[in-house]
Amino acid sequence: MLILQCPCCGVEAEETEFAGGGQAHLTRETVGASEENFEAYLFMRENPKGVHFERWRHANGCGKWFHAARCTVTLEVFGTYSAQTTRPPNEICDKITARRPGWSLKDWGSGKFA
Ligand SMILES: [Zn+2]
Repeated sequence: MLILQCPCCGVEAEETEFAGGGQAHLTRETVGASEENFEAYLFMRENPKGVHFERWRHANGCGKWFHAARCTVTLEVFGTYSAQTTRPPNEICDKITARRPGWSLKDWGSGKFA
């Protein structure tokens, strides 16, 4: 069972209290974007077996959006953080690296954080 803590109101609850919103840290493409970049923005998503960064909404609580770092295999949650960030916080990355030696942020998101 996936247990998340909303970073906005502090409530810790089962995933049924939240609504998943897909991959976090998408770069929005708008007018003037190349067709390849716009297509990637619309359709291409990461689907890792392991560490993933996702958007969640506290649907049955404060209603706010936030990001969560978790493992898709074990459901281990490494942390949740504000949705107003463009990259995962260093303390979350350090926690992931401590639990998954060899993991690097640059390996996620098609290398967008390299
Ligand atoms: Zn909340």
